[in-house]
Amino acid sequence: METIRKIDIHAHATAYPQLIPANRHTGGRFLGGEELIGMYDQLNIEKGVLLPLVDSVSQWVTMTSENCKLIADAHPDRFVWFCGIDPRMGDNSPDTDLPYLLNHYKSLGARGVGELTTQLYADDPMMDNLFSALEECDMPVIIHISPRFGVGYGIIDDLGLPRLERMLKKHPAMKLIGHSQPFWAEIAADLTEENRNRYPQGKVTEGRLVKLMRDYGNLYCDLSAGSGANAMTRDPEFAARFLTEFADRVFFGCDICASFNTHPFKLDAFLTDLRESGGISEETYRKIVRGNAERMLGL
Ligand SMILES: [Zn+2]
Repeated sequence: METIRKIDIHAHATAYPQLIPANRHTGGRFLGGEELIGMYDQLNIEKGVLLPLVDSVSQWVTMTSENCKLIADAHPDRFVWFCGIDPRMGDNSPDTDLPYLLNHYKSLGARGVGELTTQLYADDPMMDNLFSALEECDMPVIIHISPRFGVGYGIIDDLGLPRLERMLKKHPAMKLIGHSQPFWAEIAADLTEENRNRYPQGKVTEGRLVKLMRDYGNLYCDLSAGSGANAMTRDPEFAARFLTEFADRVFFGCDICASFNTHPFKLDAFLTDLRESGGISEETYRKIVRGNAERMLGL
């Protein structure tokens, strides 16, 4: 089969690998640009989208927009970048002129916003203000969802993602790319408060995520991390149907946070298998691993 070089919608890298602390729990450290390229060569990935992490909650290091631009500028054939915006930036107010910031980074080359991890409710007035700004500036956003305050990082939503739905309805021109355990766990209907921030197993009966994808054309999915890989591999037949139905709005992604991460290899092998077995068409495979990102980001 033809080799298709992939695009990673969800990348993190540091311009200062020798200076940053390792994650206290995992011992892992974010990779430098060259180190990440080394992993990309093993995974047949042409380009990654570098995402800042500007919210301090539950991170051992923050990564700025400028950090991402530095790495992308050093390797323009391997990386593009998004800017990191916390909606409290500027005036800590729902009236802040966020297009001022977005247009600044857009003029420097940023192609989107995120990873958005701020611990505010998804429909908080300051989030609402950011989503309006994204529409105005025509920039997509990648979000990480948290199940409640004080649990890790991410914008907060309840079981079933009702707050996110309110925002999808209110901001039809926003392009919202979902990621994280509480996002992907909603693929199945039998979800509970206890397992929504985990990696639920077993056959999938259509959950809220499927309904939201059908109802809102402005919602997209990021397959990165253990959460995306798990949502696919737990039920391969369902995954094939999901990827086929939403072929235009799903992105391949890695979210490599340490040199020992194995989830990107697992997801890559799974998608390759679906492609080779005919579970998904050649056209669907190409869109997911490359075409959708090319189109949305103008690559
Ligand atoms: Zn991430």
